[in-house]
Amino acid sequence: MNDTTVNSTICPRCDAENVRVLTTSPVPGRWTMYVCDTCIYSWRSTEPRSATDPLAYPAEFKIDPADIPSIPAIPTVPPRRR
Ligand SMILES: [Zn+2]
Repeated sequence: MNDTTVNSTICPRCDAENVRVLTTSPVPGRWTMYVCDTCIYSWRSTEPRSATDPLAYPAEFKIDPADIPSIPAIPTVPPRRR
Protein backbone atom coordinates (compact mmCIF):
# COMPACT_ATOMS: atom_id res chain seq x y z
CA MET A 1 0.00 0.00 0.00
CA ASN A 2 1.34 3.41 -0.93
CA ASP A 3 0.71 6.30 1.46
CA THR A 4 1.31 8.98 -1.15
CA THR A 5 -2.18 8.55 -2.63
CA VAL A 6 -3.91 9.49 0.64
CA ASN A 7 -5.11 13.05 1.12
CA SER A 8 -3.58 13.71 4.51
CA THR A 9 -4.13 17.46 4.75
CA ILE A 10 -7.93 17.67 5.13
CA CYS A 11 -10.02 15.85 7.73
CA PRO A 12 -12.46 13.40 6.08
CA ARG A 13 -15.11 14.04 8.74
CA CYS A 14 -15.08 17.82 9.29
CA ASP A 15 -13.04 19.12 6.33
CA ALA A 16 -10.73 21.09 8.63
CA GLU A 17 -7.15 21.57 7.52
CA ASN A 18 -6.00 20.73 11.00
CA VAL A 19 -4.51 17.28 10.47
CA ARG A 20 -1.28 15.89 11.84
CA VAL A 21 0.46 12.52 11.91
CA LEU A 22 -0.55 10.60 15.04
CA THR A 23 1.77 7.63 14.58
CA THR A 24 3.34 5.42 11.93
CA SER A 25 3.63 1.68 11.41
CA PRO A 26 6.27 -0.25 13.37
CA VAL A 27 7.55 -1.45 10.00
CA PRO A 28 8.42 1.83 8.26
CA GLY A 29 6.29 2.83 5.26
CA ARG A 30 3.37 0.41 5.78
CA TRP A 31 0.83 2.92 7.07
CA THR A 32 0.46 6.31 8.68
CA MET A 33 -2.18 7.22 11.23
CA TYR A 34 -3.57 10.75 11.18
CA VAL A 35 -5.65 12.72 13.67
CA CYS A 36 -7.75 15.84 13.19
CA ASP A 37 -7.17 18.32 16.00
CA THR A 38 -10.55 19.96 15.29
CA CYS A 39 -12.95 16.97 15.68
CA ILE A 40 -10.53 14.30 17.04
CA TYR A 41 -11.31 11.93 14.15
CA SER A 42 -8.38 9.61 13.44
CA TRP A 43 -7.74 7.26 10.56
CA ARG A 44 -5.10 5.00 9.12
CA SER A 45 -3.85 5.63 5.60
CA THR A 46 -4.71 2.06 4.56
CA GLU A 47 -8.44 2.35 5.40
CA PRO A 48 -10.96 2.58 2.53
CA ARG A 49 -11.67 5.91 0.87
CA SER A 50 -14.95 6.17 2.79
CA ALA A 51 -12.87 6.63 5.94
CA THR A 52 -9.93 8.58 4.56
CA ASP A 53 -11.13 10.80 1.69
CA PRO A 54 -13.18 13.93 2.49
CA LEU A 55 -15.07 13.52 -0.80
CA ALA A 56 -15.95 9.86 -0.14
CA TYR A 57 -16.69 10.12 3.58
CA PRO A 58 -20.44 9.40 4.17
CA ALA A 59 -22.34 12.70 4.20
CA GLU A 60 -24.57 11.58 7.08
CA PHE A 61 -21.53 11.30 9.33
CA LYS A 62 -19.92 14.62 8.42
CA ILE A 63 -19.46 17.14 11.23
CA ASP A 64 -19.52 20.93 10.99
CA PRO A 65 -16.76 22.25 13.28
CA ALA A 66 -19.15 25.05 14.34
CA ASP A 67 -21.47 22.42 15.89
CA ILE A 68 -18.78 20.72 18.00
CA PRO A 69 -19.23 22.84 21.17
CA SER A 70 -22.95 21.95 21.32
CA ILE A 71 -22.59 18.20 20.68
CA PRO A 72 -23.68 16.40 23.88
CA ALA A 73 -21.29 14.15 25.76
CA ILE A 74 -22.34 10.50 25.50
CA PRO A 75 -22.74 9.00 28.02
CA THR A 76 -23.84 12.05 29.93
CA VAL A 77 -21.59 13.00 32.81
CA PRO A 78 -23.71 12.46 35.96
CA PRO A 79 -24.10 15.21 38.55
CA ARG A 80 -21.89 15.08 41.61
CA ARG A 81 -23.40 13.14 44.51
CA ARG A 82 -22.39 15.70 47.12
ZN1 LIG B 1 -11.98 16.74 11.74
